[in-house]
Amino acid sequence: MNRFQKGFRWMGIGLLGIIGFISCNNTASKAGVSDKDSLAADSAKEAYLAKTGSGPKAPEQPFVADSNKLYVYLTFDDGPQPGTLTCYNICKAEGVKATFFMVALHQQRKRDGKQLVGMIRDSYPQFLLANHSFDHTMEHYIYFYQHPDMAFNNFMRAQDSLAVPKKIIRLPGNGGWVLQNHVKTSHLVRAVANRLDSAGFNVIGWDVEWNFSHTNARPVQSPEKLAAEVDSAFSRHNEHIRRNVVILTHDRMFQRSADSASLVKFIQIIKQNPNYVLETVDHYPGIKK
Ligand SMILES: [Zn+2]
Repeated sequence: MNRFQKGFRWMGIGLLGIIGFISCNNTASKAGVSDKDSLAADSAKEAYLAKTGSGPKAPEQPFVADSNKLYVYLTFDDGPQPGTLTCYNICKAEGVKATFFMVALHQQRKRDGKQLVGMIRDSYPQFLLANHSFDHTMEHYIYFYQHPDMAFNNFMRAQDSLAVPKKIIRLPGNGGWVLQNHVKTSHLVRAVANRLDSAGFNVIGWDVEWNFSHTNARPVQSPEKLAAEVDSAFSRHNEHIRRNVVILTHDRMFQRSADSASLVKFIQIIKQNPNYVLETVDHYPGIKK
């Protein structure tokens, strides 16, 4: 490149810079956008991207429990199953939080399983996806818990396969608890609970169960009866940890419209009590982060 070519090149770059400056200035003044406006637009865009999950996530705010409130944790087990979408839609429509303890094998077996699991996972903080094992022990509970290495690996496989965001598990067919410095389980599951504890996992049991018929999976208690059981757990101090009641229920119980109406009714009764707050179990006291 000779001196003439070099000089021409520098002139070109300078000219481009000037054109760029003029055009940037023009865009701003034409639209009448001030620096303040464009900053506001930038933060609105960031908030939108964070909300839609396509941008950097906003930092999670630390949860602070209100000591004047009583916390109710609605949990649905064994999804994705028929009924999962109904539970999701009802909680969405009622604007309440819930936790779904899901089974990785059901994700594989159900045609829209992956989609349902993804929908729950992406709906945090309203819904929390949690781990309910890879295969629900294939209903061989005793054998499963008597082989703690195998059981531990089963939960790790589910954690990976479902892409569970937090280290929160519910044991299939067992109401054991593992929290910070706290393991409370039956003898049968103690070894696997200790292994999960050492690996930083929490295990969540329950205080009140919405029972179902084992022949047709329909709810046993009426919504009014279940709400009375929740009130009673608080008033009689039958909770695992004071001022917190975890409700166990199953997605498949709400497939029929009469039964999904019961779920709506139950949620509405709970919402009517100004002392009650529905939360996800990652905000249960003593959860290891
Ligand atoms: Zn289960």
